[in-house]
Amino acid sequence: MQSNDVRFSCVGCGICCKGRLIPLTLAEAQQWLTRGHDVAVIVEAFDESNWPCSSEEFAHARGRSVSVRCGGSRINVIAVFAGKALKQCPNLRTDNLCGIYEERPLVCRIYPMEINPFIPLRQDNKVCPPQAWESNDILCTDGRANPALEALINQSRQADKSDASSKVAICAQLGLNVTSWKDNALAVYFPHRTKLLEAIDSAKGDSEDYPDFEWQVRVDDPSLGERLAMANLAMAVNDSTDYIFHTL
Ligand code: SF4
Ligand code: SF4
Repeated sequence: MQSNDVRFSCVGCGICCKGRLIPLTLAEAQQWLTRGHDVAVIVEAFDESNWPCSSEEFAHARGRSVSVRCGGSRINVIAVFAGKALKQCPNLRTDNLCGIYEERPLVCRIYPMEINPFIPLRQDNKVCPPQAWESNDILCTDGRANPALEALINQSRQADKSDASSKVAICAQLGLNVTSWKDNALAVYFPHRTKLLEAIDSAKGDSEDYPDFEWQVRVDDPSLGERLAMANLAMAVNDSTDYIFHTL
C-alpha cells in the first residue's frame, strides 16, 4: 500500500444525507420528483473575468454552462438541479441507511470524492466520521480515484455537460431569470414540484429555443455589481421572494 493512498469505507452513519442540497443529473431530478420529493434549482453565472479564458478552469466551467443574453452582453449560466434534503434526505431510512440504495444518485455514490477536478479531496471538508477513514479500502491514490469511482465521476461530469442546455431551457420555461455570480452568491429557486416535473417531461429543446429570454445578474458586492453593470449586464436590483439569495 502506498503512503499517498487515501483509505475510506462508508460506515453508514447517514450524516452526508442531512442538511444539504443533493446535485442531480436531469434524469435523476426527474426520478426524484416522480418519487414525490422536491428539487431546487441553483443558478450561477460567470464570464472570462472569473478565470483567464485560456485556463483549464474556464474550459471546465464553460463545458457545464450555456451562453445566454444578459442586457447588452452575454454571460455563461450554469443551472444545478438538486434534491432537497435540507433537514434530511427524504430517502433516508430511520436506521440511517439509504432507502433507494440501488437507485441512489451518482453524487451519493461518489461521496466523499470530489467531482470538480479543481477541488482536492480534504478529509476535514467532509462530514464522514474518523472511523470511516480508518478502512483498508483504497479511495484514491495521488488524488486519483480508484477505477470504479473514476468511472462514476466521469459519468457525472459528462451528464453535467450533456444536461446543461436543457436545464437552462427549463429555467427559461419556468421564468427563473435571475442568476447569482460565481464565487459571490447562490440564487436558489424552489419551483413547484409538478411544474418542474412538467417542464422536465416536456423539455425537448435546448436553451437556443429561448433566444429572447433575458437573464439578470444579482450580486452581493457593490464593486462587483458596478463592474458587471459597466460591462453592460442587466443587474437585478430588488429583493425577490422568488428565490433565496445566499451570499458566499
Ligand atoms: S439518496 Fe440515499 S444516499 Fe443519497 S442522500 Fe438520500 S438517503 Fe443519502
Ligand atoms: S457521512 Fe460518510 S461515512 Fe457517513 S454515510 Fe455519508 S459517506 Fe458514509
